[in-house]
Amino acid sequence: MSHADPLAHRAAVVAADKRFLWHPYTPMTRYLDEVDPLVIDRAEGARLFDLDGRSYLDANSSWYVATLGHGHPRLVAALAAQAARLCHTSLAGVTHEPAARLAEELVAVAPPGLERVFFSDDGSTAVEVALKLALQFHRQEGRPARTRFVALDGAYHGDTLGAAALGGAEIFRRPFASVMLDCIHVPTPADEGSFAQAFAALETVVAEGRDEIAAVVLEPLLQGTAGMRVYDAEYLRRARATCDAHGVLLILDEVFTGYGRTGPMWAADQAGVRPDLLCLAKGFSGGMLPMAATLATPRIFDAFLGAPDRAFYYGHSYCGNPLGAAVAREVLAIYRDERILERAAPKAARIKAAFAGFGALPGVTRTRSLGMTGALDLDAQGGYLGRTGWRVYEEARRRGAYLRPLGDVVYVAPPLNIPDADLDELLDIVGASVRAVAP
Ligand SMILES: *Cc1c(COP(=O)(O)O)cnc(C)c1O
Repeated sequence: MSHADPLAHRAAVVAADKRFLWHPYTPMTRYLDEVDPLVIDRAEGARLFDLDGRSYLDANSSWYVATLGHGHPRLVAALAAQAARLCHTSLAGVTHEPAARLAEELVAVAPPGLERVFFSDDGSTAVEVALKLALQFHRQEGRPARTRFVALDGAYHGDTLGAAALGGAEIFRRPFASVMLDCIHVPTPADEGSFAQAFAALETVVAEGRDEIAAVVLEPLLQGTAGMRVYDAEYLRRARATCDAHGVLLILDEVFTGYGRTGPMWAADQAGVRPDLLCLAKGFSGGMLPMAATLATPRIFDAFLGAPDRAFYYGHSYCGNPLGAAVAREVLAIYRDERILERAAPKAARIKAAFAGFGALPGVTRTRSLGMTGALDLDAQGGYLGRTGWRVYEEARRRGAYLRPLGDVVYVAPPLNIPDADLDELLDIVGASVRAVAP
């Protein structure tokens, strides 16, 4: 198909979209009436290119997945090579090299103690698998009453029915409240001065509910979707000890924090904490294909051995998909060969310095950064509740960046290998866009 008139082509795409598409996380009335969407035609490195020829720095790695940037040549080549050989086969009574080797390689780089890998499709299913494993584990260990979970206020662990029950944003849970898993939400340690109280609350909930609680589920060190909220590693260490004292499992959801987002490969490493179950997705396949994994300790795996009725009866048609697995192996190889974590450290320092400086801008109430993320809170007073972030988005779009906010939190979580010049340009755009909407 040739497109002599790119703008007419673009308009036709938008027309089909507005007629037939239902967008995620989108109030559709506002979308249909007001939104002129970006129409992305291609992407390269840290940049997205609209059909109209303009480019946009991808400030959030396209919902946190493109940790190695878009179209990394080695990932494209790995995908093409695997596609030419084997695109898919089930993982039921069948195996293949990409899945078997990927499992081996994941165990080698994962926090110590995690020795079994269960594959699924995305972050939500990685969490769903962890929840079901935790429930069935306790049941098979003779503690069937342990069916409740504990999560943080503001937590985000995905959108399938199980994962959504852990979510700390009431508006996402509200329509399904009557049919959800039972989850106790405890105060987050990420609010200023809240650490001691938050930990005391967790300890009390776990101690008092020990006979009913299956697992504590945490995003380690950084609550992403809650607004890039950072908390101290000591909380994780104490949570581990509390779980151990009461026979409760600790599930770490590194769907966002994994693959070096916070500095080291896993946020759990930074805290020196070993979870019972670890959920991985997003950076897992470098933004190429949906794929995820849940890693488990031998203690959990062993509880599923024996009679057939102890098996884990769970699986998706694309479990262990060879294309995703081949790409996920190449992601790990690129992290090694290109020293991604080491080379991200000075970039993280640039983000940290820039966001510390944004604290002085009018209308900014608080800033923070951790690894390859930086965030600022906008003063949402004056009737713009929830909308100021979108005004910054519009300003950034005019200046050439895709800067989707989380409410009134403006943040960056760019590819770990974003070129320095692109990063500096992005940080300049953040500053200029916030200044432009300043009260
Ligand atoms: C995005 C996210 C998920 C859900 O992953 P999906 O791939 O969107 O299903 C789960 N946990 C965390 C911490 C996330 O950031």
